[in-house]
Amino acid sequence: MRPAVATIDLDALVANYRWLQEHGKPGRTLAVVKADAYGHGAVQCASALAPFVDGFAVAFLEEALTLRKNGITAPILVLEGCLAADEYAACCAHRLWTVVHCEPQLAWLEAHARRGAPHPERIWVKVDSGMHRLGFAPEALSGVIARLERLAVEPRHLVWMTHLACADQPKHPHTAAQLERFAQALEALPERYAQVPRSIANSAALLAWPAAHGDWARPGIALYGANPLATEPLPAALTPVMTLRSEIIATRWIAAGEAVGYGAAFVAERATRVGVVAIGYGDGYPRTAPTGTPVAVAGHRTRLIGRVSMDLVTVDLTDLPESVGVGAAVELWGRHVLVDEVARAVGTIGYELLCHVRRVPMRYLPATCTAC
Ligand SMILES: *Cc1c(COP(=O)(O)O)cnc(C)c1O
Repeated sequence: MRPAVATIDLDALVANYRWLQEHGKPGRTLAVVKADAYGHGAVQCASALAPFVDGFAVAFLEEALTLRKNGITAPILVLEGCLAADEYAACCAHRLWTVVHCEPQLAWLEAHARRGAPHPERIWVKVDSGMHRLGFAPEALSGVIARLERLAVEPRHLVWMTHLACADQPKHPHTAAQLERFAQALEALPERYAQVPRSIANSAALLAWPAAHGDWARPGIALYGANPLATEPLPAALTPVMTLRSEIIATRWIAAGEAVGYGAAFVAERATRVGVVAIGYGDGYPRTAPTGTPVAVAGHRTRLIGRVSMDLVTVDLTDLPESVGVGAAVELWGRHVLVDEVARAVGTIGYELLCHVRRVPMRYLPATCTAC
């Protein structure tokens, strides 16, 4: 059998969540499991987190329904909100929390109410504090509130949320400006809305911006042990959940001046021992990973050489012990080679690499700690 596999350490996932949950206190913590839990398997991850979690967040309705169908009963927030009027019925039927971020969503909610249907249990009203992607302008909020009141949506049904554009760059002035704008927008509202909980923080803000913790944090990437911060290391308590592994399936020596792989893109400067690894861009390993991208072979860090092909990559074994040959374990990313290091070499972020893993079997290491 082909040795490529992605191992998902559910114990690490649970430990990461519980550390983030503790870090965010007294606020509560939604575990973001959109995009199939950033490529880790949403149902398996949500099931492992279920005994501990304050709630989950997903991007859209179908992702939430998949969790409900698989027995997840915790609160689930739909981050993009409903994308058509009839989605409110499904939201209510499955007790989903929904974001309302734009005028059409309010109009659909009104249409839903005209049919005599109840409103969703919790509505997270999204304020555009400066990211300019989703959310109501601060000036529009009083109008939004007036319309929600007509639908019998009371302050206790609401959460105010916003999303930060630059939280991954600690000290970036845009974040301070967004926090200020969000606070001002909410201060301008009637007194009866003062106690409505607030949600601001993604992983980066939860780690680097205490002022943004709020009442509900929404970490995604940090749950999976990857680093959202551009310039700071990840806290040591957070460990990578996914290990993408394969094995060496062939080795050869090539003389100085000989090339390896498609495009003859790598030319050996010295006699080089080449290891061929059974993984490639067909599995989600990035084709753009250049020569020099770190990889660990039998526990030794070395480098990728030559072009990534669909099923195979080649690595430099020259300085490794002779005993490292066919069958040697190769970690593409995990605890020895961080996904963030590979992402940096490629010019992307860990999020994208994790989301793109495919074709390889996913092997789940069970969460052993269910009540500790
Ligand atoms: C995806 C997402 C998050 C989680 O972001 P991370 O950077 O992965 O922590 C939080 N909030 C919203 C609105 C999102 O879309």
